[in-house]
Amino acid sequence: MSILILGSGQLARMMALAAYPLGLNVAAVDVNTLDVVNPITKAVIDVSLEQAIEAAQAISVEFEHIPQYLLDKVNASGKLKPSIESIMAGADRVKEKSLLSGLDIANCAYNIITHVDQLDSAVENLGEKLIIKASRDGYDGYGQWRLATVADLPELKAQLSQLELEKVPLVAEKMLKFDRELSLVGVRDHKGNIVFYPLAENLHHQGQLAVSIAPAPKVDEKLMTQAQGIFAKLAERLNYIGVLAVEFFQMGEQLLVNEIAPRVHNSGHWSMQGADTCQFDNHIRAIAGLPLGSTDVLSPTAMINIVGYDDFSKELLSIPGSHLHWYDKTVRPKRKMGHLNVCADSYAALGQKLLDLAKYFPEEHFPLLKKEATRLLGLV
Ligand code: ATP
Ligand code: MG
Repeated sequence: MSILILGSGQLARMMALAAYPLGLNVAAVDVNTLDVVNPITKAVIDVSLEQAIEAAQAISVEFEHIPQYLLDKVNASGKLKPSIESIMAGADRVKEKSLLSGLDIANCAYNIITHVDQLDSAVENLGEKLIIKASRDGYDGYGQWRLATVADLPELKAQLSQLELEKVPLVAEKMLKFDRELSLVGVRDHKGNIVFYPLAENLHHQGQLAVSIAPAPKVDEKLMTQAQGIFAKLAERLNYIGVLAVEFFQMGEQLLVNEIAPRVHNSGHWSMQGADTCQFDNHIRAIAGLPLGSTDVLSPTAMINIVGYDDFSKELLSIPGSHLHWYDKTVRPKRKMGHLNVCADSYAALGQKLLDLAKYFPEEHFPLLKKEATRLLGLV
């Protein structure tokens, strides 16, 4: 059986690495050139897109921002998983918000902006501290603007008036003071069975995920049930097949959905070492119609993104429980180059290992590492 993934970056690569032991072959589509490529070597495979679609038994995506004509073409094959509706909801914040509202799922208060002058009423409705997001094509904090005070509004309006807001509206959200960010990665198979990974706690730097800790510390039964209930509502409504990630803001005992990602997710990378079956393996199983694997946690795990940087010593692998996943990309600022998974027997031991790891990285690139290590050391 062969699987085709739209997108040929690190997520396609890690899906392929998980598929091969299952006896499944993976090809990827470079969505810019439409070349069919090997997701690991990136070598172009000598088949047309049409031939690859025909040959595949299941087709999935590594990211949601797929050109519409390509998504439609693949959808016509009847092999696309998850559903086109799920992918389009993840790609468009306006659709995503209406999906959440339609299911009565708590999310961040917002206004949709199709003309810059509507920002005045957004400030009246939501307050002067806003985070303004392009409804399409944003990721890793790109396509976002922040308003800290109403005094900056004229300048921001001038800047945003350059955009075609009628075509691609903005979503203005109230800037929340949440307690922390959590995410739930889970997977649903074609029979409707759902398995969940534990909630992960996510730390961001400059709008981009820097560190995930899984299982998230201090999660009680009530919080977990709340998160799983929201996930199940979404997955069932979308008749979802595959891995889905839901990002939350925790405010007291309440979870607000920030966004959903209809694919394997950076905050699930810890599962490559920290869980019995990793998210990539389970996504492939789900789309190939195979039984899902156990998501049992093997040990507390930290995932550290290596961003815009490749100048470190691989001697860091001498830290017991550390695992490097390198994506083989050319270094660029803000580019995710690879990640490290570090496993330990307890949060405190994990904290110590992060301190050891911090010695290998300059603080300016990894500002959260020491702080997080200290926090974990304090947990029992
Ligand atoms: P990613 O691709 O990393 O998930 P993204 O570009 O899709 O990011 P969001 O997840 O919406 O965008 O926002 C990125 C980060 O910005 C969030 O993880 C959070 O730290 C912060 N953020 C987003 N919305 C809000 C909000 N309403 N209030 C406060 N902070 C926010
Ligand atoms: Mg996000």
